[in-house]
Amino acid sequence: MFCPNCGEKIHDDAVICVKCGCALKKTNFNGGKSWVTTLLLCLFTGCIGGHRFYTGHIGIGIAQLFTAGGCGIWALVDLICILCNSFKDVDGNALKR
Ligand SMILES: [Zn+2]
Repeated sequence: MFCPNCGEKIHDDAVICVKCGCALKKTNFNGGKSWVTTLLLCLFTGCIGGHRFYTGHIGIGIAQLFTAGGCGIWALVDLICILCNSFKDVDGNALKR
């Protein structure tokens, strides 16, 4: 990732930018959601939106619950997104691996 303040390339897990010294966004302190947990939830509970509830997408989770994960297709798309590391939690944070 890049420092939002000075644009310097920094480590993904960095808490403070080593170049400008600014503290990075608070989400780094929350730890974020686990990638493995999200993947497993999608695999085993994807059709009822388990991974969506876990990552805070409650509205989408409920929608998936009532549509059986979009007949499995939605859950499959989410699974691919998780595997490709493009799945984000409700705050827009990447999952922690
Ligand atoms: Zn910086």
